[in-house]
Amino acid sequence: MKTLVMKFGGTSVGGAEAMAKSAEIVRAAKKDWPQVAVIVSAMSGVTDALLKGAHTAAAGDAETFRHIAKELHAKHEIAIHDLVGAIRESPLRENIEPYLAEFESLCHAVNILGEASPRAIDAISSLGERMSIHLIAARLREIGIEAEAVEASELILTDDMFGSANPQMEETAAKCELRLRPLMRRGGVPVITGFIGATRSGAVTTLGRGGSDYSAGIIGAAMAADEVWIWTDVNGVMTADPRVAADAQTLPELSFREISELAYYGAKVLHPKTIRPVIERGIQLWIKNTFNPSHPGTLIVPDNGRAAGAIKAVTAIKGQSLITIEGRGMLGVPGVAARTFGAVARSRVSVTLITQASSEQSICFSAPSASVSRVIAALEEEFRLELARRDIDSVTAINDAVIVTVVGAGMKYTPGLAGKIFSALGSANVNVIAIAQGSSECSISLVVDAKEADEAVRAIHDLIIAKRA
Ligand code: ASP
Ligand code: MG
Repeated sequence: MKTLVMKFGGTSVGGAEAMAKSAEIVRAAKKDWPQVAVIVSAMSGVTDALLKGAHTAAAGDAETFRHIAKELHAKHEIAIHDLVGAIRESPLRENIEPYLAEFESLCHAVNILGEASPRAIDAISSLGERMSIHLIAARLREIGIEAEAVEASELILTDDMFGSANPQMEETAAKCELRLRPLMRRGGVPVITGFIGATRSGAVTTLGRGGSDYSAGIIGAAMAADEVWIWTDVNGVMTADPRVAADAQTLPELSFREISELAYYGAKVLHPKTIRPVIERGIQLWIKNTFNPSHPGTLIVPDNGRAAGAIKAVTAIKGQSLITIEGRGMLGVPGVAARTFGAVARSRVSVTLITQASSEQSICFSAPSASVSRVIAALEEEFRLELARRDIDSVTAINDAVIVTVVGAGMKYTPGLAGKIFSALGSANVNVIAIAQGSSECSISLVVDAKEADEAVRAIHDLIIAKRA
């Protein structure tokens, strides 16, 4: 029997109205699909609020998390009131309230300890999804669909990498089959928490921020789904962020590789890890708009060959710093790059882009600005001797940088593209600080000053729209 897995993101469950729309979408899908499973995010803003509560509590603030608990209570209360008939409100409230109580007691514990372990952070940040599933399941029952809220800690077995846990697919598949299939076979809809899993000993883990998409990929693969639909708040994947480029258009089709590059470089359309479990099994992946459900959205295909045009989309990742290590004494000395990135890795910062000048007198890479002081400290420590001897002159950072990434699988077969991109940027008076080309030749990234980032995106986007590149 055909199986469909649908995931509704934070804005698709952001309030009663959006939840009601999402529930209607499920009802409509039930007409065409005998088996449907639903994954949901926390209501938008809730995960951020939970994390803020945890971090402020760890930093010694015993007040903020109490206020946050009140706000979250109010937010869920309004949704409860609008989603179900009066007599069904109080059982639903009883489903939600224990999680808010748990939030307060976990934050209280963190506050007393004065620190939040990754495990505690996951326990706290998982609570948003554990509440939202009850709201959606209740709404579905309200409109006549048998639905059951299911916590993915019962389904997705992970390792204990709290904060970015990795699923064990075989056991996960067995658990999903056992727990979900009987319900789905009789036409019921499981409403499953995105974002979370659990270790073998039962500790709740999270899959990383934005990880509900990944949950949909994992459960789609585990249930051998025919299709996975990701419901968001835009008409699929667009050629650029429409808030920056007003004439941005939906891409009807995009390859797995293209969307991976886009997702990695800041277009918040899809969590990059979603793709692998799905592509490996040939499952169709669609990105659709909850607020415009009749729009077809974007289909993600395995490979769109060389015919499909050169550059497809442009995106920007903000809040970056460009860090440069420079010195004449670096010339020809092996191991500098390894030591540089070893030091960065030890500071637990993920590098977003790397370039090295052929003179070998500098290495330059970008990392999120929030972590730049940590990175510099680690590098100064690693190269203490070389700095003292002046083999390395300096470790410096340029802040307020933005990485602009141009994506398109056809780039590989289109000579002269970089030239077109640079002349477009030149005419727009954008100064390019650094360049890197993805080794897949499916993307080119440019670092520009934050003040010029929007202009850069628009200049490149004009090439896409005019089909000049
Ligand atoms: N609620 C989680 C987050 O905000 C997961 C998700 O929405 O995908 O990161
Ligand atoms: Mg998301």
